[in-house]
Amino acid sequence: TFGVEQAEKWIITFNDKIQENKEYLTELDQAIGDGDHGLNMARGFQETVNKITSVNYDDLGSLFKDVGMTLIAKVGGASGPLYGTAFMKASLALKDKKKADVKELVEALAASLDGLKTRGKAQVGDKTMIDVWEPVIEFLTNSETIQPKELSVLSKEKMEYTKELEAKKGRAAYLGKRSIGHIDPGAASSYLLFVSLAEVFT
Ligand code: ADP
Ligand code: MG
Ligand code: MG
Repeated sequence: TFGVEQAEKWIITFNDKIQENKEYLTELDQAIGDGDHGLNMARGFQETVNKITSVNYDDLGSLFKDVGMTLIAKVGGASGPLYGTAFMKASLALKDKKKADVKELVEALAASLDGLKTRGKAQVGDKTMIDVWEPVIEFLTNSETIQPKELSVLSKEKMEYTKELEAKKGRAAYLGKRSIGHIDPGAASSYLLFVSLAEVFT
């Protein structure tokens, strides 16, 4: 099962990976954006970890609500409101729940994906974080359990595939065809998010 302790571990692990990959995410965003994705994510998730480790949560909904609100408040750029929306949607889906089974967790993540797509208006193929999120949620929806190895492999593959795509949304879209040949920064951070989730189930 997935309770408050596991959810905190997920966010803390993700923050560790973001801090380790801050330069890498920055380089990806320097190639096709404005070079701040590493900084945005590192700042936002460090603030988030500071917040959630200072509070004792009774349920998953209030934990994810604080994650979402911290990201929306502390991160500028496209990624703050997008990741913030994802966690706010998950918090609504898990309201008052102390624990979630795999089905409930995956339904919450599906609500996050819906929120991301409504907010950003991006579809699969637009070279954004959606190119990782949507196939990952589809895979999880069709699995009974969370299979950490398969989850990591799939998200890595989908992140790498964004290299082939031409950006249709976000700053990278201004580059048109010149965005081809580079991994999308938000797809790379989303890959780290799902690898961190996989680690919670390892
Ligand atoms: P900004 O582009 O405002 O500087 P970041 O660099 O932090 O913000 O985040 C860029 C990432 O946000 C992109 O790599 C992409 O994955 C994601 N992104 C941008 N616009 C959208 C959108 N409309 N829908 C989904 N994801 C988006
Ligand atoms: Mg940027
Ligand atoms: Mg920016």
